[in-house]
Amino acid sequence: MKNYFSKSKDEILKEFDSNEKGLSTGQVETSIEKYGYNQLNEEKKLSTFAVFISQFKDFLVIILIIASIISLISGNEESTIVILVVIIINAILGTVQHLKAEESISSLKSLSAPKSKVLRDGEKVEILSKYLVPGDIVFIEAGDLVPADGRIIESFSLLVNESSLTGESESVEKTSDVMADGELALGDQKNMVFSGSLVSYGRGVVIVTSTGMKTELGKIASLLEATKEKSTPLQVSLDNFGKKLSIGIIILCIIVFAINVFHGVKMLDSLMFAVALAVAAIPEALSSIVTIVLALGTQKLSKENAIIKNLKSVESLGCVSVICSDKTGTLTQNKMTVKQVYINNKVYNEKGLDTKDTGESLILKESILCNDATSEIGDPTEIALINLSEINYSMSSKELKEKYPRISEIPFDSDRKLMSTVHEIDNEILMLTKGALDSVLPRTTHILVNNEVREITKTDIENIENINTMFAETGLRVLTFAYKVLDEKKEITREDEDKFIFIGLVGMIDPPREESKAAVEKCITAGIKPVMITGDHKITATTIAKEIGIYQDGDNVLEGIEVEKMSDEELINKVASTSVYARVSPEHKIRIVTAWQTLGKICAMTGDGVNDAPALKRADIGIAMGITGTEVSKDAASMILTDDNFSTIVKAITTGRNIYSNIKNSIRFLLSGNTAGILAVLYSSLAGLPVIFAPVHLLFINLLTDSLPAIAIGMEPSHGDVLTEKPRDPKEPILTKELAGKILIEGLLIAVFVMLAFYMGYQGGNTLKGSTMAFSVLCLARLFHGFNCRGGSSIIGLGLFSNMFSIAAFVIGFILLNGILIFPVFHSIFQVAPLSTNDLLYIYLLAFIPTLIIQISKFIKYKK
Ligand code: ADP
Ligand code: MG
Repeated sequence: MKNYFSKSKDEILKEFDSNEKGLSTGQVETSIEKYGYNQLNEEKKLSTFAVFISQFKDFLVIILIIASIISLISGNEESTIVILVVIIINAILGTVQHLKAEESISSLKSLSAPKSKVLRDGEKVEILSKYLVPGDIVFIEAGDLVPADGRIIESFSLLVNESSLTGESESVEKTSDVMADGELALGDQKNMVFSGSLVSYGRGVVIVTSTGMKTELGKIASLLEATKEKSTPLQVSLDNFGKKLSIGIIILCIIVFAINVFHGVKMLDSLMFAVALAVAAIPEALSSIVTIVLALGTQKLSKENAIIKNLKSVESLGCVSVICSDKTGTLTQNKMTVKQVYINNKVYNEKGLDTKDTGESLILKESILCNDATSEIGDPTEIALINLSEINYSMSSKELKEKYPRISEIPFDSDRKLMSTVHEIDNEILMLTKGALDSVLPRTTHILVNNEVREITKTDIENIENINTMFAETGLRVLTFAYKVLDEKKEITREDEDKFIFIGLVGMIDPPREESKAAVEKCITAGIKPVMITGDHKITATTIAKEIGIYQDGDNVLEGIEVEKMSDEELINKVASTSVYARVSPEHKIRIVTAWQTLGKICAMTGDGVNDAPALKRADIGIAMGITGTEVSKDAASMILTDDNFSTIVKAITTGRNIYSNIKNSIRFLLSGNTAGILAVLYSSLAGLPVIFAPVHLLFINLLTDSLPAIAIGMEPSHGDVLTEKPRDPKEPILTKELAGKILIEGLLIAVFVMLAFYMGYQGGNTLKGSTMAFSVLCLARLFHGFNCRGGSSIIGLGLFSNMFSIAAFVIGFILLNGILIFPVFHSIFQVAPLSTNDLLYIYLLAFIPTLIIQISKFIKYKK
């Protein structure tokens, strides 16, 4: 059947063997077999084999192949085999790491997969949109992404933005009416919705007509871009560093080669020197370690309730210097309870209303009728109102909603801050409106007091405003209740929202989350500015902000209208001193983020509503709410909080900073070790000594004993010191002068002891023994050095056992090294000489001294 827009609801239900109660579980199973999952096919990923092959395109591999050929020419076949084996192992490791990173990204993707509300077996349930099938009855509302193509059977002020399909940026109004048959463009099919568009307003009920690749979106976007991960800034800068390093190494190799030949060293030996130098210098493991640490970081974050959608955001997280957070639900608990009601010029507690009074009874009815929640699901503000009437006055919302059905409605939105519904109550057609006082009061002409409606006076308005302030000062969220009598049953529009009759004010508490205060404090010590942005009243917002420490004496509080009147420059001048924004609309949020960014700050911003998507995209880190957030906001965000909690943001930033500092430490470890190798080779070349390392030695260190400690350093837990530093400048290069200095000094220190070892073994011209001693000290000294690179303070400060991975990495490396030194079978493969126990003890000692020196100097520095 085509042209669903011209078919009636029943015809469509029949077509898919569905009914008013939705599909049954059995039907869904067969349908999934028939139609497949409701998802777009992804672009084919590289096959494992292709990934494996791509590992050989590396510069390093080419050098290694050259090294193996030279070894072969010099009659060292075993060495050739070892090098070839190493190349293959390296490629396998590279492949595994690539697949692991891909897997962790796609598992994060599935954590943030879109969901739909659907009728199955007569019950409204929430499922992953992937499991939708044609015939399903789906509920959509403002903030949802349309999950599949479907025919609308009920529409309440439904507005849908179809720009991704039609290019039309304005939202279109949708109806449930049957349309005449014929040829209609997508944009004109007013009773259809299409996958990939977003619901910008209202709500509707839809019968799914096509899913997955059969949808209009599937037809144009026949392939979804695979979950490909672009390189992060850090990866790019390391790649660039790697390229520069390669060029430097080649030049250095040529020079060393030339000097040697000039000194009359044999061609082959000179060549071996050059190769050894190249192998020593190339940090083989560097780029894969950065990727592994970032990928492990995203997993750690997801355990801490923060789902990061890409590796790039993990890096930006560490630079965040401003957090703009919603109040309701993020800083507060979002468990609202009505505490006070102001009506008939008096303030009552939530239990003190008299249901015989016209106004008091109306306010309780309106709490239920002008409301989209049930006592369990929905907006917490609205749940609180349902509970007010149900719990305290034993009213049944089910009965009331059946007795006074909704004739028309204008849903709540955070720009207008009003919601209205129309009902017939006691032979009168009433429009019931609730909303923010500043939105209601200017449109109010009358007031209902003690069973009588009269014109509202100046004194009334003053009283109402005073009570509103009083409620707000105790942190209560205030909702205003009003109504109006209509002449007839009709569809209301925004123009009808005026000439209100005021009924009363309802104040509800929403206590701050217990963790908020401590999290705010952490932010401040970490040099991060927390900012509250809320649609709520200025005084309510400031009271809560004060309580949790966001607002401090002397700070500015700005309201949405004030922001609106300011020019961009004025706003830029104000943002740094403003800690609370009240009564804001989503478009103000974009301006606030932009102002901060102009000041060069990295800004994180939370958002949950439909209209928050642009601000979330604009922010450096857009944060969506996993529980209360709309699908649209989750789609636009780069991070999703599964617990909606402000303190999770702070935790995630800490983790982000820690990941960055760990990567930096890993780099320090790898490069200082390589520097030691380079300096030893250079020295021996200039001093006219024999080739100090065989390529096998250096490969053994770089690929086997060095990778594990580097990863272990990447897993170092946070020691809290990352929170005492100011946020990092995102433009700062990872290899700062300070870091380069450390790398050089530590490399030199290790190189000195490597050369000492060489001379010890070389006594009497025993080149093989000298080279064995040098290699062993280099290897073990680097293993010890792993502990120095775990963090800023000495190992006593860090706690030797606080990172068990680093202990394990050391032990494994130590066993491997001793294994090839002790067991004769390995001697010729790894080109090592048999050693005495005494030699071994010297190796341990010489390898340990550099670390001892570094630890003592750290200890002294930290004492100061
Ligand atoms: P926030 O989520 O930042 O607290 P909102 O935009 O939800 O801000 O609310 C702003 C104001 O709109 C509230 O102070 C309240 O007066 C009013 N309001 C909130 N929710 C509703 C609702 N469901 N119906 C009517 N008015 C509401
Ligand atoms: Mg809200």
